[in-house]
Amino acid sequence: MPGMNDTVRYWDYLGEYTPRREEYLGAVDRVFSSGRLVLGQEVAEFEKGLAAYSGAAFAVGVNSGTDAIVLALKALGIGAGDEVITVSNTAVPTVAAIRASGATPVFVDVEEDTYLMDVSLVEAAVTTRTRCLLPVHLCGQMVDMAPLQEIARRRGVRLVEDCAQACGAAYGEERAGSLGDAGAFSFYPTKVLGAFGDAGAVTTSDPELAGRLRRLRFYGIEQGYHAEEEGFNSRLDEVQAAILNLKLPGIEAAASARRDIARIYDEGLAGVGDVGLPVVGRDCRHQYYLYTVRTRRRDRLMEFLAKEGIETKINYPHPVHLMRGYCALGYRDGDLPVTERLARTILSLPIYPELPRSHAERVVEAVRRFFSGGR
Ligand SMILES: *Cc1c(COP(=O)(O)O)cnc(C)c1O
Repeated sequence: MPGMNDTVRYWDYLGEYTPRREEYLGAVDRVFSSGRLVLGQEVAEFEKGLAAYSGAAFAVGVNSGTDAIVLALKALGIGAGDEVITVSNTAVPTVAAIRASGATPVFVDVEEDTYLMDVSLVEAAVTTRTRCLLPVHLCGQMVDMAPLQEIARRRGVRLVEDCAQACGAAYGEERAGSLGDAGAFSFYPTKVLGAFGDAGAVTTSDPELAGRLRRLRFYGIEQGYHAEEEGFNSRLDEVQAAILNLKLPGIEAAASARRDIARIYDEGLAGVGDVGLPVVGRDCRHQYYLYTVRTRRRDRLMEFLAKEGIETKINYPHPVHLMRGYCALGYRDGDLPVTERLARTILSLPIYPELPRSHAERVVEAVRRFFSGGR
């Protein structure tokens, strides 16, 4: 039985923080000493940096990834009576945000091997009420965007990308957040680019939309305490922005470290038992926010790995369309067969930039041992 110190952690930020502690504290002190605590230099700098990195003309910092989706939909004029086509195989906030905008989510199923929206099902889901397509770049990989861009253009509906798990992912030459009307990012601590608390942003290349997002995050005010429209309080915190400014230049190295770990899993687990490995789409650059495998023996494998001191997670154990909180949407068991099957078979293995390679190798060894029937 391995001791606590030998535990293979699913995620851990201290390996990143500890060696850079002075820099982080310096960044926080810079904010505290600046005399400007809200929407100051740090937010402005991060917005510029994120826009440049993601290939959109503008970025608007907001309080969270959830708010990024809500504000993107609101800024596009989407609300009550409108339908937004998305997936149920996602984090709850995607759906919570659509509901918070007043719109109704309409789910299509996903592909078994990428876990992403099956874009061949989208056209049939479009109705006269459809106002927006909202693909989710789950696990760090982008949805096949060209067919969605084509449908959006032809049917006159908007395209909003949920980039919460995919900062820096690419589809051909283009980055997540630059292919739709707007891209919604989360910088929740575990994400590919993580703050030390809640943070989010919306990217867009439409100057008018950027302006509307800026006022929506600030009570609907443009200037002089006069609200031009009903807005919110959803600002990116200056301290979190300072931390993100420190981390943004390292995102490529961090993603490359994630890809190295993914390669250890890809090579070590190929052909093992009935394990299905995550498939990378043609021309796609995967950021490996998650490394998710699938097996019919998922629950027993998870238990076995836990006994070996290896933490794993299920992303996600319940499809949103079957959750109690969303029963009002009227979906039933069997409506989205691939999504429902994945919820029973998927397992995410530890992956983060500072994960020791020896830990990834221990994961491979343990999974192989499980499937060879050994203890
Ligand atoms: C994390 C996440 C969000 C929400 O981001 P928060 O910053 O936690 O509000 C939305 N969509 C997906 C796919 C996510 O993973």
